[in-house]
Amino acid sequence: MKNVIVTGASRGIGRAIAMELAKRGYRIAINYARSKDRALEVLKSIREIGGEAEIYRADVSSYPEVENMVMEFHRKYGNIYGLVANAGIYIRKNIRDMSIDDWNRTIEVNLNGAFYLVKAALPYMERGSIVFVSSQLAFKGSPSSVAYSASKAGMLGLMRSLAIQLAPDIRVNAVAPGTIDTDMIASYTLERRKEREKEIPLGRIGKPEEVARAVAFLLDEDSSYITGATLDVNGGLYIR
Ligand code: NAD
Repeated sequence: MKNVIVTGASRGIGRAIAMELAKRGYRIAINYARSKDRALEVLKSIREIGGEAEIYRADVSSYPEVENMVMEFHRKYGNIYGLVANAGIYIRKNIRDMSIDDWNRTIEVNLNGAFYLVKAALPYMERGSIVFVSSQLAFKGSPSSVAYSASKAGMLGLMRSLAIQLAPDIRVNAVAPGTIDTDMIASYTLERRKEREKEIPLGRIGKPEEVARAVAFLLDEDSSYITGATLDVNGGLYIR
């Protein structure tokens, strides 16, 4: 059984990724930062479908915590095949309102968190596949996403460099989701949702499971000749 760590897997896109990968026969390290109860629910759902998983608490912005999680998972189950750097935060502020702490926290979780995961796990990966969950905002500016877009664009720079460096044994790719129905857009009013849906060529907000299937494709052997790529999962909202 191939071992995969999914960060931020207690809810939203991360939960959907953990479920999809478990369905495909991977053993999952369900990472969470605070919500143990929700992580345990994901664990229960995976076990109900006959999958294997464990929960691991680690704040991805702390290297010692990430290293500890990776070492515990490796000690129990052996080499690691896959990593999904999904944990992320979105502080919705423009540059005038954004504090230095807001900026630093966003970079620490979204960008440093992805780097720490790879750095800690690499000694235990012989061959495998890494997927970063970036965002369409890595390409497209928006007034309220100063730190967020910078962190997500940084992830893509990291992904491309790793793809070259870790080939041919480890493939490294990213997904760039558009607007996906999770807690991250929970503050949208009904009106704002309707407006957004009108802007999306496919006519609706995406589901976490739709991102999960794209991540699973990139992690699986199905994408054996793809590395250094970013797959847009955005219903056509931003076509590059
Ligand atoms: P979400 O807020 O429901 O999930 C974020 C997850 O990250 C949660 O499980 C949270 O606990 C975890 N997390 C946050 N800080 C953490 C930390 N320090 N350590 C460990 N875990 C931490 O939102 P989501 O939409 O499921 O987001 C998942 C990923 O998808 C994020 O990277 C986000 O930037 C990206 N994304 C989301 C959308 C969207 O529209 N929902 C669009 C593009 C990209």
